[in-house]
Amino acid sequence: MKVFLSFFIFFSFYLYADVSIGLELKWEYQLLVFICIVLSVFVYRHLTLRRHNKDLNIQQELFDAVFENSSDGVLIIDTKSGDLLDCNKSLVDIFGYESKQELLSMNFDELSPEYQDDKQSSRKKAISLKQKALHKKTITFEWIHIKADGKFFWCEIVLTSICIDDKQLFYANLKDIDDKKNSELQLIQHVQILDQVHDAIVSTDLEGNILTWNVAATKLLGYTQSEMIGENVKKLYFKDDYNFINRMLKILQTKSIDHVNSKILRKNSDLIYIDLSLSTLSDINGAVIGLIGYAQDITQRIIAKQQLLNQKSRLDYEAHHDPLTKLPNRLLFNDRLEQAIKKASRNKTIIALFFIDLDHFKEINDSLGHDIGDKVLQTVSTRLREHLRASDTLSRLGGDEFTIIMEDLKDNKDAITLAENILLTLKKPIIINQHELYVSSSIGISLYPNDNTKVTSLLKYADAAMYKAKEEGRDNYQFYSAEMTQKAFKRVVMEASIRQAIKNNEFIVYFQPQVDALKHKISGFEALIRWSHPRMGLIYPSKFIQTAEDTGLIIDLDRWMMFNAVEQVCKWKKENMFDGTLSINLSVKYLESKTLLDDIKECLEKYPQINNYLELEVTESGVMKNPEDSIEKLKEINALGVSIAVDDFGTGYSSLSYLKLLPISKLKIDQSFVRDIGDDENDRAIIIAIIALAKSLKLSLLAEGVETQDQKEFLLDNGCDVIQGYLYSRPIPYYVALKYIQDF
Ligand code: C2E
Ligand code: CA
Ligand code: CA
Repeated sequence: MKVFLSFFIFFSFYLYADVSIGLELKWEYQLLVFICIVLSVFVYRHLTLRRHNKDLNIQQELFDAVFENSSDGVLIIDTKSGDLLDCNKSLVDIFGYESKQELLSMNFDELSPEYQDDKQSSRKKAISLKQKALHKKTITFEWIHIKADGKFFWCEIVLTSICIDDKQLFYANLKDIDDKKNSELQLIQHVQILDQVHDAIVSTDLEGNILTWNVAATKLLGYTQSEMIGENVKKLYFKDDYNFINRMLKILQTKSIDHVNSKILRKNSDLIYIDLSLSTLSDINGAVIGLIGYAQDITQRIIAKQQLLNQKSRLDYEAHHDPLTKLPNRLLFNDRLEQAIKKASRNKTIIALFFIDLDHFKEINDSLGHDIGDKVLQTVSTRLREHLRASDTLSRLGGDEFTIIMEDLKDNKDAITLAENILLTLKKPIIINQHELYVSSSIGISLYPNDNTKVTSLLKYADAAMYKAKEEGRDNYQFYSAEMTQKAFKRVVMEASIRQAIKNNEFIVYFQPQVDALKHKISGFEALIRWSHPRMGLIYPSKFIQTAEDTGLIIDLDRWMMFNAVEQVCKWKKENMFDGTLSINLSVKYLESKTLLDDIKECLEKYPQINNYLELEVTESGVMKNPEDSIEKLKEINALGVSIAVDDFGTGYSSLSYLKLLPISKLKIDQSFVRDIGDDENDRAIIIAIIALAKSLKLSLLAEGVETQDQKEFLLDNGCDVIQGYLYSRPIPYYVALKYIQDF
């Protein structure tokens, strides 16, 4: 239709022009042509407009639908006046007005507060935004508006400038972003708070991977946020701090709060101390999603505390020690002695207190000066220390006076040994700056509880004993009790000469026969030791056995006895002169020694004739001292073919249950019961009881110390046949014994 009309109009123009110019038609005809043209143009215009209007209507409906139904608020604003021309329902809802009219009666400025959040005037800001929108067509920005109830809220606006019918308009699309904006702001505030606080705050997930890391954490540990987010918190711990890891697990399990002082590594590898509070991190539903730790650097505090402690202990040390020798001073000595006394009174043990004073020290000090004197004192303290056990306390009371508290004395002999060692060590020359100095010492010893039980008295007594030592000519020791000193000297003399006597072969074996009175036969000999002293003549065991036991020399003596007695008896055996047993006395010390078994084996190998004829005598009290160990040892001895006899039976307190367990074959009835058989009913009863006991345990019997015929008869009448005693023979030397055998 349009094409046809266009053709028609063109053709009409052509005709009109042609006719007007060329044919010179009549004016009526010309008018007709003109009307035709006008008509055609009119028809064409009408048709085009109708079509256009129809298109416009469709667009309008579409726009209206989008405009009204949009969930965003939509608003049309007159650019020039700022009047609100139109808006949709959503916008009315967003602003909270009753009706569209009410909202449209406002203008844009009235819907905004005076200032935006950046403190700029809303009006001025709006002008510049409008200009920007005109220039750029479309801009997006965030804006604070006022709701109908006066509340401010954030929205996001997309502003588009449009031109309709030459009219400049803004088309605004508005979204309420108040919630989002507020949580964003809250987050920013939280981060700001975290970064403002002084504590390092670090949160982790359940695996220990770091989620947040504030500025203080960076300051404290040297790592930046970007270096640490996502890293595992273990990175900060020195090695695997299981203690810490366990605590983390505990917090997670109990959802509690824990407070711990911990060591942690800085980025630069410095180890610092932190005070750490740990608690769980939960999501909005309360589920635990990790841990949060608040840490403070307490390194300085810890160091200061340590320094304070060091200082305190240094002052403490200085108050209680002698600066020259570093030994405890009088104050600490008193304290230690008091403690030692308390302990000894609880444990019923002995303490020896030594008071040591150097001889001639004053002369050294006066002639060579204090520097040399000080060095002498230091040397003395070093030498003294070398002779002490860890439990002994050496102190310097001042000047050249030293004390030693010796605790847990087993025997007074321990004190004698120490005193002798001190005398010896201090007698050795001290060499200082080419000076060879000789200092000896005088020692006084008091004993707890023998002498006294008080700190002051013990010290006074030791001091008094020291003066006695000085009076005795220095370079010696004295006990506070004169009796003790005497005993000590005796023992020392004895000890020294026992050693010498073993070397010089001054000991002799005596033999005392044991006779089976019923069969009239020598069943054995007991070997008894004698000391043939070069000046004092024959010495009996009662004079030296105790000292030998106290000093441990008894082991050497018993060993010597065993080898020598066996050697001699074996000579008789080789000659077939004697087929009985040899009894040797065995001290407890030798029984307890590690060497006994090997010695017996060696002896049996060296003198095979003695096999099955050797008997060892142990005393009842010796075995019962440590019955379990003794049983073991005796069984081993027994297994070598050596029999065991219990000596002095009846004098100790044998437990029958142990007696049954002992691998013994003989009981020797002690001579004290035999001695009084004639007048003491009790002794007779005891002997009868012992005989019954031996029979029931299937042990053989021997009665010692039998001197009279009556004693022998009583024993025989009651079932003890083997007799040892002066009635038959005293203990006799080898050749006399040989003759005894031959004559029997
Ligand atoms: P013991 O083992 O009970 O020896 C018996 C003691 O009684 C011996 O004294 C002996 O001489 C004495 N004796 C024997 N028959 C009679 C008697 O009829 N009347 C009286 N009054 N005494 C009699 P000894 O020889 O002086 O020995 C004393 C103690 O010394 C021994 O008592 C023994 O315990 C110990 N002993 C002797 N030699 C040694 C030895 O080589 N080693 C060890 N460890 N101790 C020995
Ligand atoms: Ca004996
Ligand atoms: Ca005996």
